[in-house]
Amino acid sequence: MTDEVRRLKFEIFRFNPEDPESEPHIDTFEIDERPYMTLYMALSEIRETQDAGLQFDFACRSAICGSCGMLVNGRPALGCRTLTADLPEIVRLHPLPAFKLIGDLSVDTGTWFREMAERTEAWIHEQQPFDPAATEERMSDDIAAAIYEGDRCIECGCCVASCGVANVSPEFLAGAGLNRVARFMMDPRDSRSDEEWYDVVASSEGVFGCVGMMACADVCPKELPLLEVYAYLRRRTLGTKFVSD
Ligand code: SF4
Ligand code: SF4
Repeated sequence: MTDEVRRLKFEIFRFNPEDPESEPHIDTFEIDERPYMTLYMALSEIRETQDAGLQFDFACRSAICGSCGMLVNGRPALGCRTLTADLPEIVRLHPLPAFKLIGDLSVDTGTWFREMAERTEAWIHEQQPFDPAATEERMSDDIAAAIYEGDRCIECGCCVASCGVANVSPEFLAGAGLNRVARFMMDPRDSRSDEEWYDVVASSEGVFGCVGMMACADVCPKELPLLEVYAYLRRRTLGTKFVSD
């Protein structure tokens, strides 16, 4: 065991699409590694000491806000929960693909997620009129747990960025979108029929566009059970088709 401090070299993608004079390029920064250093800490140090104009997103620093997704040596990951100790001395950082670039490592995931939510109408469709005097209806523990599991998605976009289909087909729902659909589909409070769900998700932009190599599950920082989600969607939509026939 050695106490020698590593000198980390960060090769960071730089580009400001708002500046007509900006050209995409790589800037290199060096800092000393410190114990328990995360990428968030490293990038903050670079911004504080070497380049105040470096753009990247962070909010909670605890893998909850989903803001700090980026490509770390080619793989989507959250900056706040990536320890530099787990990385080689040369760290290459790029913005997540499949999203609109704001600048450097900062991307606009919000527009993608809003469009996905509006397209799939990702909210409870309740047809009963609200009755404030009604008693609450029970939900089985299994269904409540499955819904809770889907709701753990932090909308970081790592699954979308890792998905080859989403990168060439902007309309593809990808892991986050398919997970969102499944979450409402299994919710007994949502009154949409199987046929209505079929129209939402049974297409090449939905679950049948997925080629199943599971890069999305490999990179999901919340380890959502995306394989089970896709299997659930396929079973439900194929069942619907057989019933309709
Ligand atoms: S398994 Fe499907 S959703 Fe996941 S990365 Fe592959 S194509 Fe995309
Ligand atoms: S499913 Fe996982 S990787 Fe995809 S947006 Fe949600 S938390 Fe991030």
